[in-house]
This record gives sequence, C-alpha cells and structure tokens, in this order.
Amino acid sequence: MSSTDNTLVALPSRKRIALVAHDHMKEALLTWARAHRDALSRHELSGTGTTGGLIADALGLPVHQFLSGPIGGDQQIGAAIAEGRIDLLIFFWDPLAAQPHDPDVKALLRLTVLWNIPCAMNAATADFLFSSPWLDTDYTRANRFPAKR
Ligand code: PGA
Repeated sequence: MSSTDNTLVALPSRKRIALVAHDHMKEALLTWARAHRDALSRHELSGTGTTGGLIADALGLPVHQFLSGPIGGDQQIGAAIAEGRIDLLIFFWDPLAAQPHDPDVKALLRLTVLWNIPCAMNAATADFLFSSPWLDTDYTRANRFPAKR
C-alpha cells in the first residue's frame, strides 16, 4: 500500500460520475437520468458500454463508454475508482436477477466502499445524492475507508 492511502482528496465542483444499470434496470436509470439532465450536464459522465450509450442518446450529452459490464466494464470502473478517476457512482443493479458477472459487480461495490465513493443504488438514494449541496461544490473526502489497518 502506498503512503498516500489515507490522504484527503479534494473533489472539484465538476464531478466525474459513472453510471451503470443492469438490463432490467436500464429503463429506471434512464427515467431517473432524464429527470436530472440539467444536473448531470454540469458533470463529466461515464458508464458501462450499453448504459453509457443509452444515457448519451437519451440526454444528448457526452458519456465516456467503458466496455459493456459483463465483458469487463464493471472492472474498468472499479479500476478507475482505485486510481482516483471517478468521484461518484450511480449503479442500479438488479436485485431480482442473477448476473453472469456477479463477481465483477461485487468487486465494484467493494472498491466503491473501500475508496469512500458516494454511491446510489436506487432512484431514491440518487435523488438524495443529487440534492446534496456538495454535488456542485468542492468537497473533501477521506481517500480510503475504513482507515488503514
Ligand atoms: P452494460 O453493463 O451497461 O454494458 O449493459 C452493465 C452491467 O451489467 O454491469
């Protein structure tokens, strides 16, 4: 582990937001994203391949597309989190269907908690997150949670 593991990280007002939705949850994410288009437009967006493309089409905003989730996209987003390149995650995972890439999903959620990344996993939490004063202002977060042991 590097000596910088427990440093504070200053997040700029323009956040780097990753969006992911499993297949049966994509419509729910699109509905949520349309309702928050103005807020989303102020930030830098990315997503897993299919989700990212759908969001870009629905909102008319640039969205960086990682690989599709089942072929490595979740892993790429996890790596981006570990490298400090994602500030916030919106991940509508499916609570009613098994996923072929379940280990990748679990790994992404683990890294999200480990690196203290704000994460919404349903629409209500995403609403709360997007009504936070910190969404559009600077925010300082601990780089890793829980603290180094
Ligand atoms: P997708 O991936 O956006 O490429 O469908 C989502 C996922 O299953 O993690």
